[in-house]
Amino acid sequence: MIPKALIEKLQSSQHLVIFTGAGVSSESGIPTFRDALTGLWKNYDAETLASEFGFLADPALVWGWYEGRRIRVMQSQPNPAHFTIAQLARQVPKLTLVTQNVDDLHERAGSHDVLHLHGSLHQPRCWVCAETYTLPDEPLPDQPIDLNSRITPPRCPHCDGVIRPGVVWFGEALPTQAWQLA
Ligand SMILES: [Zn+2]
Repeated sequence: MIPKALIEKLQSSQHLVIFTGAGVSSESGIPTFRDALTGLWKNYDAETLASEFGFLADPALVWGWYEGRRIRVMQSQPNPAHFTIAQLARQVPKLTLVTQNVDDLHERAGSHDVLHLHGSLHQPRCWVCAETYTLPDEPLPDQPIDLNSRITPPRCPHCDGVIRPGVVWFGEALPTQAWQLA
């Protein structure tokens, strides 16, 4: 039951800011970062899988882990919370959606200009020249892929540098544009 005061506030609001985190996607079956660190990965600390140091030490281990998470997201669907936020944006003069999530479920529910403070699983980039890398459009596997699959990261078509996940790692700055707009 939504309190009447909140409904009135929403009805009169001129600019609404919504800030989401892992909770909004967990209903879609997306494990949180910590949840994803289970199984074999309990032998690795978070920094190994989420730092420049860890990536340089073993790119295939880290790339495979993020690919597993990305495929899992693509096999999942937005839930009513994602759809409600997208719908709300059509009811108020202005809505800014800021998320800590690295999935694309807000976009797939119809939200636009989502500010991804922690980057995105779906926008990897070149380690060397920072050019965005377009992942090949391949048919989705039926089952989630193992998060412990070692997968060699692709190479940049511009400079042959190694491609890294597009998420913000420990010790890295938040993406400047998303941060300023947020
Ligand atoms: Zn490059």
